[in-house]
Amino acid sequence: MIKEIQLRISLKEEEKEDILLMKSARILEISPKDITGVKVLRKSIDARKPKIILNYKIAVYIKEALPEASEYAFEYQDVSKAKEIHIIGFGPAGMYAALRCIELGYRPIVLERGKNVKDRRRDLKAINQDHFVNEDSNYCFGEGGAGTYSDGKLYTRSLKRGDVRRIFENLVFHGATEQILIDAHPHIGTNKLPKVVQNIRETILNFGGEIHFGTRVTDFIIKKGNIKAIQLNNNKEIPVERVILATGHSARDIYYLLDKKELALKAKSFAMGVRVEHPQHIIDSIQYHCSGPRHELLPAAAYSLVEQVKDRGVYSFCMCPGGFIVPAATTNTEVVVNGMSPSKRNNLFANSGIVVEINVDKDLQKYDHYGVLKGLEFQKDLEKLAWTAGGRTQTAPAQRLTDFVEGKLSNDLNPTSYQPGLRSAPLHSLLPKLIGGSLRTGFKAFGEKMKGYYTHEANVVGVESRTSSPVNIPRTEKLQHPEISNLFPCGEGGGYAGGIVSAAMDGERCAEAAIKGL
Ligand SMILES: Cc1cc2nc3c(=O)[nH]c(=O)nc-3n(C[C@H](O)[C@H](O)[C@H](O)COP(=O)(O)OP(=O)(O)OC[C@H]3O[C@@H](n4cnc5c(N)ncnc54)[C@H](O)[C@@H]3O)c2cc1C
Repeated sequence: MIKEIQLRISLKEEEKEDILLMKSARILEISPKDITGVKVLRKSIDARKPKIILNYKIAVYIKEALPEASEYAFEYQDVSKAKEIHIIGFGPAGMYAALRCIELGYRPIVLERGKNVKDRRRDLKAINQDHFVNEDSNYCFGEGGAGTYSDGKLYTRSLKRGDVRRIFENLVFHGATEQILIDAHPHIGTNKLPKVVQNIRETILNFGGEIHFGTRVTDFIIKKGNIKAIQLNNNKEIPVERVILATGHSARDIYYLLDKKELALKAKSFAMGVRVEHPQHIIDSIQYHCSGPRHELLPAAAYSLVEQVKDRGVYSFCMCPGGFIVPAATTNTEVVVNGMSPSKRNNLFANSGIVVEINVDKDLQKYDHYGVLKGLEFQKDLEKLAWTAGGRTQTAPAQRLTDFVEGKLSNDLNPTSYQPGLRSAPLHSLLPKLIGGSLRTGFKAFGEKMKGYYTHEANVVGVESRTSSPVNIPRTEKLQHPEISNLFPCGEGGGYAGGIVSAAMDGERCAEAAIKGL
């Protein structure tokens, strides 16, 4: 017999061996000897009160063996002679589109502008140390897309759009820790993601798919509402039948290309702001109500904040406890920051994007002449402004949090995890008022909600500009572009995902849609 129960375990109890088994026996009023094993289904931390509690949902196996295998099986088949589907971009959307093609008996041909995870690492080093951004290989472009050197948080709100568990199980199948199946806020970590991505590549190649790195798509040859061929950066042209476009939201050349070809696009609302960085111990002390170091069983504390400022949302985005701020620009004349953390989340800093909602219809009138690309142009201008204020390198403009809110230039800055370095700049006056003003009010409100958060020991760093796509590539119910019937806009670049898991789920759906009728 299997019984599912909830357990509340204190930190002191958590230190004891077999606590879950012993407590289950007590609650179920059975002998511990009758329990063959317990399986943790969910684990979360309740730190609302000073006495911190670990909430467990567990399955108790009573006189019954624990299952050995996962109920999810991934049955890949040899597709080396099967019909081809072309996939542009090998981020989470492209990877999961390719895997799904193989499961369904089709041969994915992946075209990726960036390098494989190993070679890509050298380009990341060049950004951090030499301030040189390779426009095809950086934190956004390359094998695994923006998902590889990301934080690897697997939280998604897209629960209705697909089977989230299936994506998690598949990540585990490809080497991610089983802990992601249990944690309420699952996280892989930037140090573990490249191996998972590499394993996914090997599955695709082993079963007959193709992946071409260093291969940027530069044009579409369109005839009678169909893409007949794709042009590549080496001037080669390849014929295609079905194309999944999974190029992510940083592939501006793709938006420009579609716009030039007068294909339907829509301007989309998005959010922009800064990244704030605190010493991790400050966030721990607020969230865990402790004055010294956090309990050794507790992970680096996270937070999630939201405030309405004059009907405009100001909120934390991609919070990375124990993490690093990273330079996520895709060209040399812009500065973009983002965050990531290793699996242990053991760095000394806590960083988070703090962003402001931008309503593309109401807020960007000055950019109206750019038409559907107005959000993109606004985003570009802000990134260029950050680059100029940072000193025209990957050094990022920054200010102490309290100086930013009070409107003062910082004489000096706090230590940071951002490797290219920070430069003091008056972000409070440089950022457009709708962003700067909303952030300043928002930060004050956050300080009220989390006592100790509003501190001169934190830096704000500019700019957090790539939260989601400023452009939507429309698609019909069959997931086809309305004017090009064999083009399937997919993932974050199309405006259909906002993170690793939702992009992966959209990749699967696009693969299913693309093979229909082939
Ligand atoms: C530093 C950082 C941290 C992040 N942390 C998290 C996190 O913790 N959790 C989370 O859910 N999300 C996180 N994200 C966001 C997440 O990575 C993206 O939402 C996700 O990767 C989007 O997937 P995608 O496949 O749609 O696009 P992308 O991952 O952007 O992949 C697109 C791919 O297309 C390729 N490409 C672009 N143009 C062309 C072209 N013309 N020809 C050929 N190839 C092309 C690119 O090189 C890229 O590899 C983070 C992002 C960054 C940068």
